[in-house]
Amino acid sequence: MPSFVITGKCDGCKSQDRTACQYICPNDLMVLDLLTNKAYNRAVDMCWECYSCVKICPTQAIEVRGYADFMPAGAVVQPLRSTDAIMWAVRFRNNTMRRFKFPIRTTPEGSIEPDAGFPTASDDLNDPGLRTEPDSLRR
Ligand code: SF4
Ligand code: SF4
Repeated sequence: MPSFVITGKCDGCKSQDRTACQYICPNDLMVLDLLTNKAYNRAVDMCWECYSCVKICPTQAIEVRGYADFMPAGAVVQPLRSTDAIMWAVRFRNNTMRRFKFPIRTTPEGSIEPDAGFPTASDDLNDPGLRTEPDSLRR
């Protein structure tokens, strides 16, 4: 089952220019209905159920079928991210709730130095080296 929006929970990302689910979907599937201020998936057969929109939605308004390798048929799963962990809340068919929390970082949020101190290469698009090469290759 592809992503679907629980309209009662969706606030249209408070009418931002680009909603969180629009921003994150790798297939550009999520759109905002400007009349109702609710998002929806415009091409469900193109959704690969990657969970990106489910994880980023600030109001937990999006659901996707849970993968069979971590939850049984008929259950519903909802992830809730914090700055250092993600909690997966699973509601089973008999309404039993289970929550599983996992760390998602080993360093504080915002502390990563993208180039790790290496000088960046030129902007020459014909240069075959990656951004910090060749210095980072001699580490
Ligand atoms: S991210 Fe969530 S709240 Fe924001 S528009 Fe999409 S479904 Fe609605
Ligand atoms: S589950 Fe992934 S592919 Fe499907 S709508 Fe959400 S972000 Fe896009």
